[in-house]
Amino acid sequence: MTQLPPGVKMTPMLSQYTEWKALYPDCILFFRMGDFYEMFFDDARKASEILDITLTARDPSKSIPMAGVPWHAVNAYLGRLVRAGCKVAICEQIGEPDGKTLVDRQVVRIVTPGTFVPEDAGTGGRLAAVARAGKDIAAALLSAETGRLEAGIFPPGEAASLVASFAPGELLFPANFCVSGTLPMLSGFFPISRPEEFFSPVSGTRWLADQWGVASLASFGVEDNSPSAGCAAAALKYFSETQFGAVNHVRRIYPLRPREYLHLDVTTQRNLELLDEGGPSLWGTLNRCRSPMGRRTLREWILRPLLDEAAVRKRQDGVEYLLACSGERRRLRDLLSECRDVERATSRLSMGTGTPRDLGAVRDTLRLLPSLLPLCTGPLEEWTSGLPDFSGLAAELCSALEEDLPRMRANGGIIRPGYDRELDEWRDAGSGASAWMDAYLEKIRTDTGISKIRAGYNKVFGYYLEVSKGSLGSVPDFFIRKQTLVNAERFITEEMKVFEERMESATAEISRREGELYDRLAGETLDRVEDLQALGEALAVLDVLASLAETAREKGYVRPVVNSGFGLMVKNGRHPVVEDVLTDSPFVPNSLKLEGDGKRIALITGPNMAGKSTYLRSAALLVILAQMGSFVPAEAAEIGLCDRIFTRIGARDDLARGSSTFMVEMVETANILHNVTDRSLVILDEVGRGTSTYDGMSIAWAVLEYLADGCGASPKVLFATHYHELTCLEERFPCMENLSMAVKESEGGIFFLHQVVKGSADRSYGIEVARLAGLPRPVLRRAFDLLQRFEREERTGNFPKKKREFTGARQMDLFEAERHGIVEELAAIEPDGLTPFRALELLYKLSEKS
Ligand code: ADP
Repeated sequence: MTQLPPGVKMTPMLSQYTEWKALYPDCILFFRMGDFYEMFFDDARKASEILDITLTARDPSKSIPMAGVPWHAVNAYLGRLVRAGCKVAICEQIGEPDGKTLVDRQVVRIVTPGTFVPEDAGTGGRLAAVARAGKDIAAALLSAETGRLEAGIFPPGEAASLVASFAPGELLFPANFCVSGTLPMLSGFFPISRPEEFFSPVSGTRWLADQWGVASLASFGVEDNSPSAGCAAAALKYFSETQFGAVNHVRRIYPLRPREYLHLDVTTQRNLELLDEGGPSLWGTLNRCRSPMGRRTLREWILRPLLDEAAVRKRQDGVEYLLACSGERRRLRDLLSECRDVERATSRLSMGTGTPRDLGAVRDTLRLLPSLLPLCTGPLEEWTSGLPDFSGLAAELCSALEEDLPRMRANGGIIRPGYDRELDEWRDAGSGASAWMDAYLEKIRTDTGISKIRAGYNKVFGYYLEVSKGSLGSVPDFFIRKQTLVNAERFITEEMKVFEERMESATAEISRREGELYDRLAGETLDRVEDLQALGEALAVLDVLASLAETAREKGYVRPVVNSGFGLMVKNGRHPVVEDVLTDSPFVPNSLKLEGDGKRIALITGPNMAGKSTYLRSAALLVILAQMGSFVPAEAAEIGLCDRIFTRIGARDDLARGSSTFMVEMVETANILHNVTDRSLVILDEVGRGTSTYDGMSIAWAVLEYLADGCGASPKVLFATHYHELTCLEERFPCMENLSMAVKESEGGIFFLHQVVKGSADRSYGIEVARLAGLPRPVLRRAFDLLQRFEREERTGNFPKKKREFTGARQMDLFEAERHGIVEELAAIEPDGLTPFRALELLYKLSEKS
């Protein structure tokens, strides 16, 4: 925007503004003017709307819209702007204004939704990059908050799930990559398109290797010149562009491999209510973490349960140890609640946005280590024994930093007295001011005989002596007039001038020296950035283990056996979240036994509200808990490692993406049927419900048959349905077992016992459930009459021949039109006019169609 609106006169300041704005046209330009960041023109209009701040006008003709935010509160405003999807360029004053010439300004960083790490805990900057890698997708995930950069190559569905659950603030992709076509699940994320070369595997590898001073990325477990290296480089380059290179806390790349974790696609994460989205969730039930690092890691553990038996056991050992040693657990949790977010603090310091309080966060945490680390014995040493020694840095920060630190470094008050001789001397020089002035005033009073004289100081005029009008006659010659007030005159003396200069330089020197010391301490801290990240990770793990132990104790969870078998055995298991929210009645525990080579498909029938979904979901949640290393809500459990949990639950419209409920249901079901393995757990709740009864039942039937025999794998399946007809499949497939939800009938109606029993349900109790739900009596009565009629007619053969239709007649209809076409073709043939070759050709064609 180099063109100014008509009527606006170009000034040197405006010209400086427009030059910078032209370089960052897609950003709101925060233009530093003294204590404010000012915005002009369209930026001002947009920001005033988003931030709800006053829109004013600058120049006399009021033709320049302007809005501003105070510099000391800038973080909160930035947070709101990035949440609204804006990018902000911060244009700072370079050098001190002298009141005469225009101060230089420069854009020093760009704040974007994917890179902004706010001061307070909250969701930090997360950035993802995707690019094509043959048939697969390369994906990189970069957390500005922790400095962790991960990358790998995945089949498209898995890549989309991985990125979506990372919930990036921005999604980077090459210009020729169509996100909505290739990875539609990601089309809601803030898009950033870059030229294809930006993702180049070869130059990306070279760039990353240069960045980290290594010869090859192989040492990190990432193949050189691979698309994942290209993607990782794109993410880090973009981050670096926005931070003007201040990204030294990203020190390495972590490889991500497909099938490294129990794969939970986004639908499954949502269906199983894993994370807190305003309601009860697994995260909410488990979370007893005491630190932000722990809370972040717990989220990650829930979304990425392990597939490695030994790694699961190590976590379980940690939980078991902390469960057994209650004293240690309590003490550890107390200390963890005092730990601060070291990962985030070091990241902010590294990005140049840190404050003295971030340095304080590192100090506060390091000084807890001598009490905290000795508690980490036994299996906990796995995470703490490799930690480097921090005593030197801790001692330095403790002796240097004030206990309570200011938010802004410019305010001073960062360094303790006694830490640095030079600073102390300047402070002494500065602090003598009031004593000196008191003594000087006394001397002046005696020398001049003026009693009505007082001393003062203000920012504009500095030190002064104030003499009231009545005493002006006695003012001596060496008083130099400074300012005239209504009832008094203000003066300064040569002696005071010298003193004032000394004071001014003391203040400047204090601030310079304090700044120098702060920078040195921040530098020493940043030299240990990798060590501090390792510490942050270890503290996070300890926090999660202690949290899991605490939850296990509170709720009576047990340690599950996790092995490489294919079974899923649960004795008296409970749904961890439902049992938490039930207040009126106790949760009824239920058992489950699925064996890879035996009964591996359970078909569960029973009326609505009987507890089918809860039973299904409990099984999935128990697997997740077990594989993330947690204890589980059951009396005992033995769980063969699962590679993927598939869920198809309930009716959920995806209207936003233009799909009907039934379409969504079928797409999800298709995905399951195409991808199951022997290690998968499949949860199907009411498949086929979204269409007419017979269509639905036929589909459910066929799906079940396919899973029992036809999909080429032996997954474990829990299938809830109220199509009772399906229960007859148990006879055909030895791998199938019918289960049902027990219901007690009495005169007063039905009661759900929430108990799973062997065998199929004999009735569906729909009308009873409708009564419980409060349907009007006339509707219930009519429904009951209709039901009796339908049942009677079915018995006498007058009503939709359920069995006949189901056993094939209706399915035949699907092909009727095609057959009809064949008949028509046959009728059109004139056999006499055909050569033998043409007749043979026709025969082949028809037989293909039949
Ligand atoms: P369905 O899928 O059969 O319609 P749900 O699983 O949705 O039934 O369960 C309905 C309600 O019954 C749940 O919200 C919960 O309050 C209660 N419930 C389910 N299972 C149990 C159980 N095992 N013990 C106690 N209450 C249960």
